[in-house]
Amino acid sequence: MQRIWATETPQRVGERVTVAGFVHSRRDHGKLVFIDLRDRSGILQIVFRAGQTEGADPEELRGEWIIAVEGEVRARPESLVNPHIETGGVELLGAHLTVLSRAETPPFDISDENAMRNVDEELRLRYRYLDLRRPSVRERLRMRHETVAFIRRFLTERGFWEIETPILSKSTPEGARDYVVPSRLQPGSFYALPQSPQQYKQLLMVAGVERYFQIARCFRDEDTRGDRQPEFTQLDIEMAFVEQEDILRLTEELFTALIREQFPDKHILHSPWPRLDHEDVMKRYGSDRPDLREHPEDPNELAFAWILNFPLFEAEPEDAPDSVSVAGLPPGKRYAPSHHMFTAPRPEDVVKLEENPSAVRSLQHDVVLNGYEVGGGSIRIHDSELQKKIFHLIGFTPEQEDQFAHFLTAFRYGVPPHGGIAPGLDRLLMILLGQPNLREVIAFPKTGDGRDLMMDAPAPVEEAQLKELGIRIQPKPTG
Ligand code: ASP
Repeated sequence: MQRIWATETPQRVGERVTVAGFVHSRRDHGKLVFIDLRDRSGILQIVFRAGQTEGADPEELRGEWIIAVEGEVRARPESLVNPHIETGGVELLGAHLTVLSRAETPPFDISDENAMRNVDEELRLRYRYLDLRRPSVRERLRMRHETVAFIRRFLTERGFWEIETPILSKSTPEGARDYVVPSRLQPGSFYALPQSPQQYKQLLMVAGVERYFQIARCFRDEDTRGDRQPEFTQLDIEMAFVEQEDILRLTEELFTALIREQFPDKHILHSPWPRLDHEDVMKRYGSDRPDLREHPEDPNELAFAWILNFPLFEAEPEDAPDSVSVAGLPPGKRYAPSHHMFTAPRPEDVVKLEENPSAVRSLQHDVVLNGYEVGGGSIRIHDSELQKKIFHLIGFTPEQEDQFAHFLTAFRYGVPPHGGIAPGLDRLLMILLGQPNLREVIAFPKTGDGRDLMMDAPAPVEEAQLKELGIRIQPKPTG
């Protein structure tokens, strides 16, 4: 008999059905054994009457065993209805029990949400597949899926194409260190995992794709600080023949529709989102990601805002240790892009690039939400001379500039004006789902120091693998 989900049983009263899932809990009342069966959809009460069940013995069942049960769906008497669960009006009278898999006692009690609060997070992460069995954690996976599904529909309807870009790539600087992957076929050469698909999405605009998006994995090797993940997901978007206004409008429409449909309890405080000037915000709040909520204690209030008119550069300190001397710039002087090196200056400020780069404002746009930066983007430079000038100002050596030769070459063949944005999906979901950290919205997250406790990664590799790659590990310096 075809298996149905627990939550389908209320529509099947009087029918004989098969359900399957985990033993969530078990209560033994002598002649009756009650099982709460948990499957992905929810929980269903099953009653076994002593001596009236075929197959395995219900008394032997233990927590987390996996079973299939055939039986009749019955309406519960009024007094026994449980209004707290979706299947609370029915139960299954077990007629045939099959044990599909036995389970050892798990290291924590999956069915006890209260007790879970005191369980060490490292233990949860080590046994993440068990942690994910918990209805509350699983619900977050579902919401994440629904969110991504919504985004895909929304953007597809507006003419965007979802395009995958490579993971094995070349350094795409976003201000962090790269994760590098040694190449076996080109010994001594390395791929870099993308810090974002920035160059690819811009090259897709050169390719004439016009509207691109991707649910993109990004990799940044950063020191442990704050709530970060070495790999994270962003909704990467790029559009051609647009102005900043178009990008702001699209983002605002997308988030507003998403929240209305998927998170109806939340309300957006200011609509349209306030647009704040970077300089003003810094003066007023001392931060470029102010929390604009009126009732911060209200978990349903969402205060979005745009931060605009960022300076194009953050001047690096004169004594920056890796400062190089750049022809035409005072010794040791160079400028770090405040967003990234492809961001366009405001057209009216381009003249200042010569004599006063620090005063140049850019076409960067950041989205902030409840005190977090949840996305950033910009209108891009689409002129190779201007791009070269920026490379120069940030102090690229000829070798570093060489790293971007492909980009500048591409720009020789015509570049539509373009721009984009990349909201961070993990962070957005963390806020919308009211979670204290990013790990709670990622299926298999890493610890603050970048370890995957379940897989035990990173881990040493076999000597033979290293040899193939032509890599020798230096012993750690002692003392
Ligand atoms: N690549 C940028 C980032 O990851 C976003 C963008 O400019 O579209 O922050």
